[in-house]
Amino acid sequence: MSLPVQPVSVQLPEDEMRIRFEADETIVFASSSGHCNLDCSYCVASPVVKLQPSLDYDDLMFLKERVGGRVFFIFSGRGDFFAGYKKSDRLLARLLENEDVSVALDINGVVIHCFPELTVAQRARVRHVNLTFHYRQLKEHRALEVWRRNALTLLQLHDNPDFFVNFILAPTESEDWNEALHWYREHLFAAFPKRLVLINDVLTPFGAEQEARLRALQQAHADLLYTVRRGNFASLLSAFDHVSCPAGQSYFRVWNDGAVEACPNVAELRHHGNLKHREFWPRTEPFLCGDVRHCDCYHIASSGRMQFFKGGLPPGANRVIPLQPA
Ligand code: SF4
Ligand code: SF4
Repeated sequence: MSLPVQPVSVQLPEDEMRIRFEADETIVFASSSGHCNLDCSYCVASPVVKLQPSLDYDDLMFLKERVGGRVFFIFSGRGDFFAGYKKSDRLLARLLENEDVSVALDINGVVIHCFPELTVAQRARVRHVNLTFHYRQLKEHRALEVWRRNALTLLQLHDNPDFFVNFILAPTESEDWNEALHWYREHLFAAFPKRLVLINDVLTPFGAEQEARLRALQQAHADLLYTVRRGNFASLLSAFDHVSCPAGQSYFRVWNDGAVEACPNVAELRHHGNLKHREFWPRTEPFLCGDVRHCDCYHIASSGRMQFFKGGLPPGANRVIPLQPA
């Protein structure tokens, strides 16, 4: 059935933290690690992932060979990327030996394994880094000094405009915020003037007290702060009724147990293979979707592969139809 859809042009707002994708690479959001060495109270994975299987080099190479061409892995999600592997696995170095593989790393900095040994060419393929400063957990695990050393190593080797050091503004830990920023100022910023991104905890809204604490932080530490970020993909992605989405074609989600999804937010797009079983079923058509408010949607829209439409589809409906020419 042909739907009377009308393409619209949507300009995403400026976002200094947006990942920059190349047009010809398949984007794979990979929660590859089955372990985290911290237990943050605000972790979106509940319970925090511990000692679960991780995707190994062969699992990831199976996917790379199946999709063909260049692949960009966003390593983020349930566990910490490095914590899911042994240093001797050299997973990052081995992946980056492939010239057609690039990565984004979302890490807590407690272990960084083979990163210091990467060659200049391998490091150039680490195109985006989010290093998060989980102050309370680092303090409880007596890992602040280890984190400082690793953060300095990463920054000295690889600081660039797509390298961000983040601090989560968790309302449950708001009494620590000022102490954490003082520690950062004294122990890291004094040695390497990298400014912090403050990110609000998406799970817990701020009360009046947290808003006041945030204003006080912004006044006391203005020189230390890069930006304050309030993740809200829904408000960024709203000037249309539905999209034609390449999830399952040039965008995939993979999980530490091997599961492959085209999109984790739509039930019918959740089963597209298992890397550990060497199964992979990509989609042959784009997906017409009216539920455009997730981080996956934002990554895909950022990559320029989403087509936006008004009319023709009831709000909230997800429908599979062939892509209409724009
Ligand atoms: S470091 Fe990240 S993955 Fe690990 S517990 Fe903290 S928030 Fe969760
Ligand atoms: S929820 Fe977002 S990523 Fe998933 S199919 Fe819809 S538009 Fe695509």
